[in-house]
Amino acid sequence: MSAKLARIEIQKMAAYQSARSLKNNGSVFLDANESPFTPLAGLGLNRYPEPQPEQLVKRLSHIYQVPSQNLLVGRGSDEAIDLVVRVFCRPGEDQILICPPTYGMYEISAKIQNAGIIRVPLRIDGLTVTLDEESILIRIKEGVKILFLCSPNNPTGTAFPREALKRICEAALEKTIVVIDEAYSEFSNELSMISEINRYPNLIVLRTLSKAWAAAGVRCGVALGQEPLIQLLQKVRAPYPLSQPASEAALLATNSESKRALHLRTEQIKIARDEFGCELKKLECVDFILPSSTNFLLVRFKDAKSVMKAAAGKEIVLRDRSSEAGLSQCIRITVGTRDENKQVLEMLRQDLK
Ligand code: PMP
Repeated sequence: MSAKLARIEIQKMAAYQSARSLKNNGSVFLDANESPFTPLAGLGLNRYPEPQPEQLVKRLSHIYQVPSQNLLVGRGSDEAIDLVVRVFCRPGEDQILICPPTYGMYEISAKIQNAGIIRVPLRIDGLTVTLDEESILIRIKEGVKILFLCSPNNPTGTAFPREALKRICEAALEKTIVVIDEAYSEFSNELSMISEINRYPNLIVLRTLSKAWAAAGVRCGVALGQEPLIQLLQKVRAPYPLSQPASEAALLATNSESKRALHLRTEQIKIARDEFGCELKKLECVDFILPSSTNFLLVRFKDAKSVMKAAAGKEIVLRDRSSEAGLSQCIRITVGTRDENKQVLEMLRQDLK
């Protein structure tokens, strides 16, 4: 059982029972030391919110097609990353495995927990980015608590084949928790790994409303996995992770109208991404662009520093990734509106040629 991989003290611990987690029926609530007054325009914000808001959990389970007990909702997938590390890694003893260049928060959460970090770098060969499956499997055999895989990967934009991810989950059974971070999944043609959580008790998939759903300011993300894993994460989360306005905003961001808009927007971004990439490729200052299954492009320039300088001069903010292993001269550019993308192209044409 994968839940046995959790820190023993977390396995043994009983979850904190917050006032609102007890779901007491009643109309006079004198159990949570709240104020009886509603000064904030009668919005009901004098009361604590539901720890896992029922309506939102229901909405998200419908979107991700899993029963509600297979889902934890929190403040973005960043919170879920942190929870997984805290549940499974004993400080000073356990290790996580990452495949750089990848999303930075896996490493940060591990450092905060004083967990070790093992790196099996991605293989970047021209425009092809692949997982070093053989080395990953060796490291799993040697013993790592959590493997974080980001697919599609930030910052390379690469979606890894599902078959490879499944092989890794299989090899990691009983040994390692495999976290597949699918923050950019909506932009990819590769199928999600959510449908595999029933098969792999060691699999946790992360999703977010911050990217394709266009709701980063809401701070809402989910961890999806088998019930014993989700229950462990529930023990460690804050008593009330989502504020009431945030969960109301999350419901608004995922209603049927928003769902329709999501599909349109995603298609629009994918088209804009491909057009933007084609135009960028024509520029002298661009070396190459990695194929992207996301809403950003990783562009290798001849001189990234001067691109960053020129962009700053035009108040365009880009993400310099050139100090990361294997990414010298690389800048990550988010696909914006048509006009924003045009501004980037004009800046490059004018200032760098
Ligand atoms: N995973 C990846 C790969 C990301 O790029 C990001 C944000 N940039 C996150 C997770 C965190 O997303 P959030 O906390 O907004 O859900």
